[in-house]
Amino acid sequence: MKPAAALSLDLDNLWSYLKIRGDERWREYPSYIPTLVPLALERLARSGQRITFFLVGKDAEREENRDALRAIVRAGHDVGNHSHHHESWMHRYSPEQVREEIAAAENAIAAATGVVPRGFRGPGFALSPAILTVLAERGYRYDASTLPTFIGPLARAYYFRHSKLDAAQRAERATLFGNWRDGLLPNRPHRHGGGGLLELPVTVMPGVRTPFHVSYLLYLAAYSRAAALAYFESALALCAWTKTMPSLLLHPLDYLGRGEAPGLEFFPGMHLQGEFKRAFVDDVIGTYARRFDVGAMDDAAEAAA
Ligand SMILES: [Zn+2]
Repeated sequence: MKPAAALSLDLDNLWSYLKIRGDERWREYPSYIPTLVPLALERLARSGQRITFFLVGKDAEREENRDALRAIVRAGHDVGNHSHHHESWMHRYSPEQVREEIAAAENAIAAATGVVPRGFRGPGFALSPAILTVLAERGYRYDASTLPTFIGPLARAYYFRHSKLDAAQRAERATLFGNWRDGLLPNRPHRHGGGGLLELPVTVMPGVRTPFHVSYLLYLAAYSRAAALAYFESALALCAWTKTMPSLLLHPLDYLGRGEAPGLEFFPGMHLQGEFKRAFVDDVIGTYARRFDVGAMDDAAEAAA
């Protein structure tokens, strides 16, 4: 029997990337969900893979996204809560703001899809004691907001270099993608404060703690596809060897290539052809499923508990 593993996709929309970057066009909530979701669902169906889609409340509220979001549930996938406004500084919210934010997203997602989310992932891996308290109060089964790597500040530096933020916006985003100390957080499923809420971290390479989520693998694949897959195989072998349950993360831009996400050309890997990326993602998922019993986050929470 193969050990359990998780696969999820954070449905970050076009506007949320523009917002983090300080691009005012985000205010009209431009969306690629109606085209992106059918594309992702078709690829996942082909590999017979069920995953969790972490949805943003604001997207669930908007009529133009409804059909696509319903299709996710109709295809048998799991849905999680990825906040309402997708603000990566959510860990700085007051407890009252956190309460409103999580409830608003939950209600919007339930109204759009008919499913009440029971798992949460903070935007930009944001997590705070207030967030954990509210999740426990509302009966969530797990949180999935940690990325236990040392290299968060490098990702932040890249983002700042490619954005037009003023001093106040930079201050708001001062801890975007975390702190080097995140590399000391556990890499395995665990309970917060001993017996508290279950945490399912986005797994990093055991030992060296470098990321291996799919966007990172694609970044490597732009230089060498074979090296990127070999790196992924090593990460999985190390997870198996150290008995670390892997949780692999996908992003919409893993499915979209050159010319398919106008406005996001600044993003790493956006010079690659869409079909190259999609075929690579299929290979990654195939490799993953050969070694592990890959399921959605709800299956992984069950296995971890
Ligand atoms: Zn996100």
